[in-house]
Amino acid sequence: MKLHFSESIQQLKTLATREILKLTQGNDIISFAGGLPAEDFFPDKSIQSAFVKVFEQGKNSLQYGITEGHSLLREEICKRMLLKGIQANLDQIQITTGSQQAIDLITKVFINRGDTILIENPTYLAALQVFQGYGANVIEVSSDDDGMNLNDLTEKIKRYQPKFIYVTPTFANPTGRVWSKERKQGILQICKQFETILIEDDPYGEIQFNKTTDCSSIYSLHTTNDFNPVLYTSTFSKIVAPALRTGWVIGNENIIQQITKAKQTADIHSSMIDQQALYFLLKDFDLDQHILTICSEYKKRKDQMTHLLKEYEIPAKWVEPQGGMFLWLTMEDSTINSAELLKKAVQKGVAFVPGTVFYTGQAEINTMRLNFTYSAFEQMEKGIKRLQHVLS
Ligand code: PMP
Repeated sequence: MKLHFSESIQQLKTLATREILKLTQGNDIISFAGGLPAEDFFPDKSIQSAFVKVFEQGKNSLQYGITEGHSLLREEICKRMLLKGIQANLDQIQITTGSQQAIDLITKVFINRGDTILIENPTYLAALQVFQGYGANVIEVSSDDDGMNLNDLTEKIKRYQPKFIYVTPTFANPTGRVWSKERKQGILQICKQFETILIEDDPYGEIQFNKTTDCSSIYSLHTTNDFNPVLYTSTFSKIVAPALRTGWVIGNENIIQQITKAKQTADIHSSMIDQQALYFLLKDFDLDQHILTICSEYKKRKDQMTHLLKEYEIPAKWVEPQGGMFLWLTMEDSTINSAELLKKAVQKGVAFVPGTVFYTGQAEINTMRLNFTYSAFEQMEKGIKRLQHVLS
């Protein structure tokens, strides 16, 4: 039978890289490819106790819930957000099935086929795929270590009249970069001036190695009474555990109402058991202390990885990440194609993500993303040694 799939799904390309990375599963391959948190630090016992508490509440805890999300959990998130300078009432927050779903629902709410979205260069691959899946015209704005180039942004807003701009200003995936305060303030002003929505995706903001890094969110820089054009999204995936699939989006009430409508057709609501367990976890467990622990452990792993890259003379440059989970390497030899290199690397038992997948336009082929959080020290050394063999 001939299968007539939708244009949207046909537009979603399976990446050749993904097929290669599939080979890494179950084999003796050390993977720096996935964006995985370290399992060693998952607070499994506390999560288990939180689930026990949910079941102690009686059978009602197994019932359907409201689309907006568990009210008690939303209250707790609002309290946590206040500490980041983000003020929101309960009608301004929607719980989502991971922040990935927030990106999907926002796109569903705003994008008609052919509408333009402006993005950083490079940017988060799975967001790109959502945008392409909805048939958006995705345009890169040139970017450097401080964030988007605001002149290029202004020019592209005028030229394309985008429906929204998507950015990860704090410890970005894949580059690890943090936008300067000036750029954050600048983009907020530009979005207000041109009445353009800004999606601020912030899954890594709390994975901070150095207290002096300014991690203030763009959302929180809006301090006036006019319309705040920022939709802020974050997640428990990196600070608790990704399996709970719980994220949230905060923004203007009218926009949140539309997102709730979109979510109703997607999955009615996110898992109530997971949301209730997270609520009890936030009540009974010292999440802030836990975040301090993972930040300190991840910093050690990041230091170890950069040390090994030097020790094994990997011919590459990078900007030292001050948080997050990724190291973005640019090979000194600009003719190295890291997508080709990956094929050889997998044969030698090590994997990474070639930088090309994070671009929509002209890609820097000699770049790659390495995750430094997942592998413990011994594995990491073995992996970097293998990378050295691939390059020699
Ligand atoms: N945004 C970015 C930039 C990410 O790196 C990720 C996870 N890889 C997500 C969103 C989605 O995370 P989750 O759905 O687990 O919250």
